[in-house]
Amino acid sequence: PFDVLVVGGGPAGAAAAIYTARKGIRTGIAAERFGGQVLDTMAIENFVSVSYTEGPKLATALEQHVRDYEVDVMNLQRASKLVPAKTPGGLIEVQLENGAALQAKSVILSTGARWRNMNVPGEQEYRNKGVTFCPHCDGPLFKGKRVAVIGGGNSGVEAAIDLAGIVAHVTLIEFDGKLRADEVLQRKLRSLPNVDVLVSAQTTEVRGDDSRVTGLVYTDRNNGSSHTLDLEGIFVQIGLLPNTEWLKGTVELTPRGEIVIDERGATSVPGVFAAGDATTVPYKQIVIAMGAGSTAALSAFDHLIRTSAP
Ligand code: FAD
Repeated sequence: PFDVLVVGGGPAGAAAAIYTARKGIRTGIAAERFGGQVLDTMAIENFVSVSYTEGPKLATALEQHVRDYEVDVMNLQRASKLVPAKTPGGLIEVQLENGAALQAKSVILSTGARWRNMNVPGEQEYRNKGVTFCPHCDGPLFKGKRVAVIGGGNSGVEAAIDLAGIVAHVTLIEFDGKLRADEVLQRKLRSLPNVDVLVSAQTTEVRGDDSRVTGLVYTDRNNGSSHTLDLEGIFVQIGLLPNTEWLKGTVELTPRGEIVIDERGATSVPGVFAAGDATTVPYKQIVIAMGAGSTAALSAFDHLIRTSAP
């Protein structure tokens, strides 16, 4: 069995595996797709101390760094079930979709999350060419330009307020008849001179000139009429879905599916820790996921020296 089994090979999982391997304990990492969301990213300009890199390059560097150590890397493996230890300090089992079962004294969950898509024509085609999910990452790319934010929940309204300070103009588009964000955020939003809010509006198409986004089409749900907005950027903020469906009923999750952790990365199951976008960590970013992965790893190590027989 492993001393530590990491499930998930994004920034959080890679950091966790490096930290535990450096303690000289038997470490495995099982990932459906090593690199995680980083593989879907183009320019990265907020990976602190690296002015500019690109997702696939960072993903390769993550895997390279992990392979510098004696880590058992199991790529293209999807976990389907977690079975807690039968006795305190006993072995925890992680079952894989291919039927295999891995055992470990402690487990670090770092299965990340995925952004909900609008599922409209043009969205995939113009991903990273104007269609984006992350105002913290990509906001500065649209300095002085016109953008839309899709989604009127807290993250959409926060994104619109954030972007209004950088871009020329923001249109916030909400499907429902009213915004769902906290009142204080809505008040702040409405005070901004360069923001328009459209409610009961359904985005139906992303338009572009083959290389970049040039606009979007929406339907006014009150009367069915169709309208076009000319703009350069579209920030989709309609939900981040944690990859935790397989943990339901075993590990405590929030109603939104985030793994509940404490400040040490401990979950509700003894010996099971978690890190990154799959958890209740407040901000979902690469450097934050790496820090959280390191925290979970050090906590797992601490757990092992307290529970393992000498
Ligand atoms: P992820 O990167 O989501 O990795 C999860 C890992 O778990 C993957 O290996 C996945 O295959 C695996 N996995 C999932 N389910 C299972 C399962 N059941 N069994 C086994 N493995 C599983 N952040 C920034 O800081 N700067 C940026 O510029 C930036 N740009 C972004 C651009 C895009 C398009 C996207 C989508 C995100 C961007 N982010 C950016 C956010 C950043 O990528 C995430 O915060 C970060 O990758 C989270 O790391 P993680 O390890 O928690 O999860």
